Amino acid sequence: MPINLREKKPGQRACDVKDEKGKLCLGHLKRWYTPDEAVAKELGPKAVVYRCERCHTLYRAAPTDDSTAGERFELRPVNILGAFVRKK
Ligand SMILES: [Zn+2]
Repeated sequence: MPINLREKKPGQRACDVKDEKGKLCLGHLKRWYTPDEAVAKELGPKAVVYRCERCHTLYRAAPTDDSTAGERFELRPVNILGAFVRKK
């Protein structure tokens, strides 16, 4: 199943998916710490993935995106790798 993945623009905090009527979703993009296996396989276990809290569209951070650099996400004890090490 192909993964519907959008690229999060630098600094983007809101979902820009449009519905059938052309209305923007504008849901808040939240860091997704527990990507499912398909996503982790596609992007690699260290991928930074965001998910819209309204429509659940997935976003990959653009390489130049440092908008969350001040939030210390990288120091959180959530280990995406660990989840996969266990399954091997
Ligand atoms: Zn959305």
